[in-house]
Amino acid sequence: MVNEPTITCGILALQGDYEKHRQILRLLNCHTRLVFNREDLQRCDGLILPGGESTTLINLLKKHDLWDAVRDFGRRKPIYGTCAGCILMAKSIVGMDQDSLNLIDITVQRNAYGRQADSFIDDITLQLNGKSETMEGIFIRAPRIISMGETVRVLASYSGQVILAEQDNILVGTFHPELTSDTRIHRYFVQRIIASVKKS
Ligand code: GLN
Repeated sequence: MVNEPTITCGILALQGDYEKHRQILRLLNCHTRLVFNREDLQRCDGLILPGGESTTLINLLKKHDLWDAVRDFGRRKPIYGTCAGCILMAKSIVGMDQDSLNLIDITVQRNAYGRQADSFIDDITLQLNGKSETMEGIFIRAPRIISMGETVRVLASYSGQVILAEQDNILVGTFHPELTSDTRIHRYFVQRIIASVKKS
């Protein structure tokens, strides 16, 4: 991808599969920065919150003084959260008294498809840029988006369920495109970052 203007996509690197996101962004020639602290975050134009374990990520974000900084970042710049990253940004989590960055108007249920052994791969339907396309979806102890506000846009679905959605600066997905070599969703996110840099 022609990366113009030059942007830096940060990837939260406290836990989870952040290296996989880095590899896929490299395929797009997008400059990346692993984010360990606030100084790293300040240098980024967009941020990826990777999959992992949301409760662990909450503790680590707080420990590294990044919790408020990431919330402020999401109010100004694009963030893409996959799986645990989606849970972190959801407005509410059913049946759990769990902290949230509250950046997108969705309610999620954690581990909604079962345990690790119930993780699965199946075809999903992408609706990026107005056309329907098929993609391989990898779901690992995935959450489910069970409700969302009216201004949240659906970008992919699986079996009648919303699995990729966006609102304002925030993009969330319940599956793991970074574990495939399919760059479409990351490309979409990078374009969002470029658009936001051009606007500012
Ligand atoms: N099950 C994890 C959680 O609830 C998320 C799993 C993942 O990120 N692949 O936080």
